[in-house]
Amino acid sequence: STAVKENQEVQHYVNGVYEQVKKSNAHETEFLQAVKEVLDSLVPVLAKNPQYIKHAILERMVEPERTISFRVPWVDDQGNVKVNRGYRVQFNSAIGPYKGGLRFHPSVNQSIIKFLGFEQIFKNSLTGQPIGGGKGGSDFDPKGKSDFEIMRFTQSFMSELSKYIGPDTDVPAGDIGVGAREIGYMFGQYKKMRGAYEAGVLTGKGVGYGGSLARKEATGYGTVYFVNEMLKSKGLSFKDSTVVVSGSGNVSIYAMEKAMELGAKILACSDSSGYVYDRNGIDLNTVKRLKEVEGKRISEYVKEHPGSVFYEGFGGIWKIPCDIALPCATQNEIDEEAAKLLVANGVKAIGEGANMPSTLEAVDVFLENNVLFGPAKAANAGGVAVSALEMAQNSARLSWTFDEVDGKLKEIMTNIYNDSLKAAEEYGVPGNLVVGANIAGFVKVADAMITQGVI
Ligand code: GLU
Repeated sequence: STAVKENQEVQHYVNGVYEQVKKSNAHETEFLQAVKEVLDSLVPVLAKNPQYIKHAILERMVEPERTISFRVPWVDDQGNVKVNRGYRVQFNSAIGPYKGGLRFHPSVNQSIIKFLGFEQIFKNSLTGQPIGGGKGGSDFDPKGKSDFEIMRFTQSFMSELSKYIGPDTDVPAGDIGVGAREIGYMFGQYKKMRGAYEAGVLTGKGVGYGGSLARKEATGYGTVYFVNEMLKSKGLSFKDSTVVVSGSGNVSIYAMEKAMELGAKILACSDSSGYVYDRNGIDLNTVKRLKEVEGKRISEYVKEHPGSVFYEGFGGIWKIPCDIALPCATQNEIDEEAAKLLVANGVKAIGEGANMPSTLEAVDVFLENNVLFGPAKAANAGGVAVSALEMAQNSARLSWTFDEVDGKLKEIMTNIYNDSLKAAEEYGVPGNLVVGANIAGFVKVADAMITQGVI
C-alpha cells in the first residue's frame, strides 16, 4: 500500500474523516472550522504518502490525547462565591511537551479551546522547536475585576491545573486575557503547590524571575517579520505603506511598533468596543499607556489626538483602505464581506497575528485575488517560538540578551516562511502559504507519531 493514490480518492477519505469529526464534535463550530481547513490542505501530502492513511494519522490527530475540564471557585471583593469553568486540552505530544497559551474570556468554551489547541500542533511544529500542542483557559471575564479578584481567580485556577502540568509535561503561557500579571500569580501558586522552583512550567514570565527578553514583543514582531518576507518576494516593503492593525493588546501593539520601525504608517487599531482612525498615523505611546498601564478603552485615544476619530462596533475597521492588514484581535474577525472590501480597496498583504482571524470564505477571497496571505499558524508563531526559547534558557539556567532572542526570532520566522513556501511548491500549490504551512507543520508531527508506534 505504498503506491501513490489519486487525489480524488484521498479527498473522499478525508471527507469521511471530517464527517466523523463532525459527528463526534457536533456544535463545536470553531474546532470544526480549524479541522476542515487543515484536512483539506493535506490531500496532496496523503496522496503521495499513503503511510499516513495506513497509520490513521488524521484520525489520531483530530482527537486530543487528553481533555481536562474543571471547576474554578473563587471569592469576589464583596465576599460572594463565584464559579467558572477551566480547561486544558493536551492535544498532541509527539514532538515535545504540550505547549500553548491560556485564554481568559467569557466566550471561552470547549470548541474555542480545541480549535486553538489543534492549531497549536502545527504552529509549534513549524517553529522547529521541540514543543507539542495544547491550549487552555476559562470563561472567566477579567474585564472590570480588581487586582485581588484576578489574583484569587488565577490562584484557584492554578490549584487545579497544577496537577496536570510541569516543565516536561505541559507548559502553558498567555493568550487573550492572560498577560504578565496573571502569569506571575499563577507561577507563584504553582511554586507553592509543588514546593519547588520549576522555572520552565510557564512561559511569558517577568524577566526578573525567569522570563525571556523579547517574549512580550515576539508575536507582533514575528508577524511583521513574516509579512516582510512575503512583501520582499514581490519587491514590496513596509516602507511608506499604510497598515491597519486590529486589536490593541500585546500582539497588536508590537506588530504596530515593528511595522512603524520599518517605515509604515498605522492608520487604525481597535478593541472590542470599536476602532480609532488617525490619519496622522496612530501614536503608539498613547496606545501603550492606555492599554498597558491604565487599562482603559481605546476610545480614550481621541481625547488626546485631535483629528483622530473613534467608530463604535467590532469589524468596521476593515472598511479602511490600506496596503497591509494585520488582524491581531480574535478568531473570525474578517468574514467574506470584510475580505471583499479589503480586496476592493487594494490591499496587498494580510498577516494573521491573531489565531484564525479569517473565516474559511475570507481566506478563499484573499487567495483567489492573489493577495499575499500569511496564515496564523505561520505568521503568529513567533510568540510560541520565543516561549520555546524561554524554556531553553530556563533549562540552561541562563538568559540571552534582547538582540540574541530577537535575532533567533527573525531567523525562525524566515525559516517558517521558506519551509511553508517550499511545501506549497512541492505539493502543487505554489505560493499558497495556507496549504504550505499546514503541510510543513503536519509532516514532522506525523512522522514522529509513526516512529513512536500506535500511542
Ligand atoms: N497564545 C500564544 C499562541 O497562540 C502563545 C502560546 C505560548 O507561548 O505557549 O501561540
